[in-house]
Amino acid sequence: MTDQNKLRNLEDLGEFALIDHLTESFENRNPTTIYGVGDDAAVIAISEEESLLISTDTLVEGVHFNLMYMPLKHLGYKAVAVNVSDICAMNGTAEQITVSIAVSSKFSLEALEEFYEGIKLACAHYNVDLIGGDTTSSLSGLMINISVVGRAKNDKIAYRSGAKDYDLLVVTGDLGAAYMGLQLLEREKEVFRANPNIQPDLDGHDYIIERQLKPEARKDVIEFLKELEVVPTAMIDISDGLASEILHICKASKVGCRLYDEKIPIDAKTSMMALEFNIDPSTCALNGGEDYELLFTVKQEDFEKVQSNPHMSVIGHITDEKDGIYFIDKSGSAITLRAQGWKHF
Ligand code: ADP
Ligand code: MG
Repeated sequence: MTDQNKLRNLEDLGEFALIDHLTESFENRNPTTIYGVGDDAAVIAISEEESLLISTDTLVEGVHFNLMYMPLKHLGYKAVAVNVSDICAMNGTAEQITVSIAVSSKFSLEALEEFYEGIKLACAHYNVDLIGGDTTSSLSGLMINISVVGRAKNDKIAYRSGAKDYDLLVVTGDLGAAYMGLQLLEREKEVFRANPNIQPDLDGHDYIIERQLKPEARKDVIEFLKELEVVPTAMIDISDGLASEILHICKASKVGCRLYDEKIPIDAKTSMMALEFNIDPSTCALNGGEDYELLFTVKQEDFEKVQSNPHMSVIGHITDEKDGIYFIDKSGSAITLRAQGWKHF
């Protein structure tokens, strides 16, 4: 008989420690497995020049999306975009996806058609092919799993582990908007619940709502990097918030880092909504998540090239591991960087 008192709680462990715990005893047996667990995508050898990249992501109704405000077409698009984002995070190009769904009888054919319309739009936008999947029933709600296959030149693959002392820390686009979009949608959902006669007040908030409902993978940035002839020394996509992703890069690369609050790109619309919610805008960027921007490191010599691109902001630099991982606030105080990220359990 199992002693219930000895069973450990998943909540105490957290997502990343759980993955480490479950996978640490596995060894790769095949020489074609260049890189397995631990990066945005696995890397499989196919030739001297190129590798395949493979990644998968699951979205669960009620955990990752709420159909009260997430249109199914947007959900289909987003499910593909977040997978393509993981291929971008390896400095690769996504080429194929498989889509598996577990769906309950509450969904109509028309609802699933809407969902696939979104998938189709994303396939066209990111130039990827739907090549298969699986369809099964679920007792409640919708669960989506998408796997993506991509390709990268072997000498261009950007792992989380390549950052070196003195490298510059760069982020694309702006951060925190998807989180503020979510806060706004949640607030309006509660207002609507309390009084269905009150229409949601979403006017003028298109940007942050779109960032939540229709995020884009930064495929364009992979092309900019190619044009600029910059190969990131390390890269990750921002799904769980800037803080969490910086810690991933630092841990994998065995380095420290200094991140400057004043350099973090935050759109004015995000800041305004954050202030309305009494949240520090920097906290949205650090801990919000779902921005799907890219965070990468480059050598100092690439500073001018990165600086010249309007989609890229230098937000800090890498240090020796023993110097720690710090957030430098606007008053110049150094605070140890911690990640809150998303709590999945
Ligand atoms: P991302 O946020 O980029 O999608 P995750 O944090 O989900 O990455 O996963 C980190 C790494 O752990 C990836 O290499 C992923 O493939 C691997 N991983 C996640 N869950 C599992 C699991 N249940 N079993 C094996 N590997 C896993
Ligand atoms: Mg990722």
